[in-house]
Amino acid sequence: MEDYPRTLSEFSARFSSDEDCREYLRILRWPAGFECPRCGCREASPVRAVLLRCRACRHQVSVTAGTIFQDSHIPLHLWFQAMWWVTAQKNGASALGLQQILGLSRYETSWKILHRLRRAMVRPGRDMLSGRVEVDECYVGGPEEDLPGRLNLDKTLVVVAAEEDGSGIGRIRMRQISDASSASLMPFVKETVVPGSVVHTDGWLGYSPLESTGFPHQITYLKGKPDTASELLPRVHMVISLLKRWLLGTHQGAVSHKHLDYYLNEFTFRFNRRKSRSRGKLFYRLAQQAVAVAPVPCYRITHPEAENSRKPQPLGAW
Ligand SMILES: [Zn+2]
Repeated sequence: MEDYPRTLSEFSARFSSDEDCREYLRILRWPAGFECPRCGCREASPVRAVLLRCRACRHQVSVTAGTIFQDSHIPLHLWFQAMWWVTAQKNGASALGLQQILGLSRYETSWKILHRLRRAMVRPGRDMLSGRVEVDECYVGGPEEDLPGRLNLDKTLVVVAAEEDGSGIGRIRMRQISDASSASLMPFVKETVVPGSVVHTDGWLGYSPLESTGFPHQITYLKGKPDTASELLPRVHMVISLLKRWLLGTHQGAVSHKHLDYYLNEFTFRFNRRKSRSRGKLFYRLAQQAVAVAPVPCYRITHPEAENSRKPQPLGAW
């Protein structure tokens, strides 16, 4: 059963202490009851306030070990308030806004909380798009032609996939790519779109392997009229335009190249749930995903480019 607070007063009454929060995470993590990660035993007894001990092998497990909350020195109730504010507000919160709401003394703490939460917002390989899907790549960054303001970001190529839902938009996925070659575009399509779905693109050659990869390919040609691009693939261009507004508005354009993918995660999380009537349900989804996503070493939050590096990085408590 999906159990979540509906309003701010319900939220405040329910999660006033770290114990309340830990109990909620325990149920999200083990919805069918405790299961020892070492031996699979279903019974445990509490040890102090924060640990469970397996009855069979005596292995001790904390509810937050192996989740994004692992090794954090920030009290759980503050994490919960952060999750609430990020999901309860239509456009989310900037690090500065969250710092003020939570009364944190350091901006960096607020910034790191948001970046950890963003990593729990999109689960790779899950919730793939299907049906008919528009795909196109666009530049984001620098002065934006259609908007006042400037993103503090060099021009960066972002590929977007948007489900066609009648004349509207279904769910989306997006990613930063280094160039518009097949080698960059095809892995994105394969990882985000269910095989057999119709993929709708312009006539760019980078998309030509689609048909032979198991995606019926619909091509709409621009015929030398660059100003009509947004009419031919209107959903992708609408999504990009909303993304730019969000980066310029909520985040004041202060988004760096190396962190852009995590902002794309947050935008996607919000967009795909934009019709949800209950903000509490978004809080529930985020909390649920936060206990399902592995912890990220502190170093990798500030240096995400090291994500693919083989060098071991210090885990570091924070
Ligand atoms: Zn055990």
